[in-house]
Amino acid sequence: MLIQENIQLSTLNSFGCKATASYFCTIKRKDEINEALSWCTHQEKPFLILGGGSNLLFTKDFDGLVIKMEIKGIQLLKETPSDVTISVGAGENWHLLVKYCVQKAWGGIENLSLIPGTVGAAPIQNIGAYGVEAKDTIQQITAFDTYTKQWVTLKNDTCQFSYRNSIFKREKNRYIISEVQFLLQKQPTLHTDYGAIREVLHQKQIKQASIEDISNAIIEIRREKLPDPAMLGNAGSFFKNPTVTLETFNLIKHDHPALVAFPISDSEYKIAAGWLIEQAGWKGKKQGSVGCYEKQALVIVNYDHATGMEIYNFSEAIIQSVNNKFGIQLEREVNII
Ligand SMILES: Cc1cc2nc3c(=O)[nH]c(=O)nc-3n(C[C@H](O)[C@H](O)[C@H](O)COP(=O)(O)OP(=O)(O)OC[C@H]3O[C@@H](n4cnc5c(N)ncnc54)[C@H](O)[C@@H]3O)c2cc1C
Repeated sequence: MLIQENIQLSTLNSFGCKATASYFCTIKRKDEINEALSWCTHQEKPFLILGGGSNLLFTKDFDGLVIKMEIKGIQLLKETPSDVTISVGAGENWHLLVKYCVQKAWGGIENLSLIPGTVGAAPIQNIGAYGVEAKDTIQQITAFDTYTKQWVTLKNDTCQFSYRNSIFKREKNRYIISEVQFLLQKQPTLHTDYGAIREVLHQKQIKQASIEDISNAIIEIRREKLPDPAMLGNAGSFFKNPTVTLETFNLIKHDHPALVAFPISDSEYKIAAGWLIEQAGWKGKKQGSVGCYEKQALVIVNYDHATGMEIYNFSEAIIQSVNNKFGIQLEREVNII
């Protein structure tokens, strides 16, 4: 395993922000993880696992070892008349995995089409879109536990999956994921209720949608709504949708009847963070090289060589302003480094 020094990370994060890693290596095999961690222990340096860099913001250089995850491979472990179990290397590209499964007509992750990044990062924030989350198909995860220094298998119910959260995010830097096992269905229940999926299928006059139709519809909707990081630096949704009590929901609804929110229990509502940001006047707003995307207020974009710190400060201003207007503290979805 080669350890390089002073590596520029601007092409390795979807915001395109400049940051230097003091040390950098790529991991193609499981045993190289142990090797990289031993190096960090000897050198007394921290480590950072890097997938596709599409959910993090570098606000400074990283004085430690950046470990780029490149473990590949898709393995069919089991096939029955109704389902398949596959094991996928953490360094596989997420969208290519979705395409692979769609081609095989294995259902379950088609609604997560076109999400950038790697398979190993999918469980970290339990990626979700269009009514589906990664947790719905993840069976188990193989990871190196840096606390106990042992390889472990975490079954779905021990991963503490919830909205954009998991044990991997809560216990930051504890687990390094090498493989994810998925259970996919041959006759899946298709999720068409969310967003504009039905509308697109209707426009295309598709009455009996296949897995591929759903995937294509979602790709079309996402291309229309979200900026392509290759053209305009961004990390998707910058903030999480906040959860509020029924009382807070009623108070805001009273003053703003157009509030976009949905109930998640008898006493709690989830509010669309994009709506809050838009109401606070940020949608389409630009400050220097940073801006709030004009088609989706949840997305912060890097128009032209913005630094990570400029983007961070812009997000801080949004948080303050939403708090002043609604008394709601937005939480960042993006990992700040
Ligand atoms: C245009 C765009 C659209 C997006 N849309 C969505 C969406 O619809 N839904 C959604 O949920 N997200 C979305 N995202 C966010 C992002 O794509 C996902 O969070 C994705 O899973 C990040 O993968 P990554 O490999 O790029 O992770 P990175 O950004 O490289 O890493 C993210 C975090 O995971 C850790 N990590 C990465 N790999 C491992 C590993 N193998 N083991 C342990 N820790 C690891 C990193 O240290 C870091 O803390 C979007 C991003 C963009 C740019």
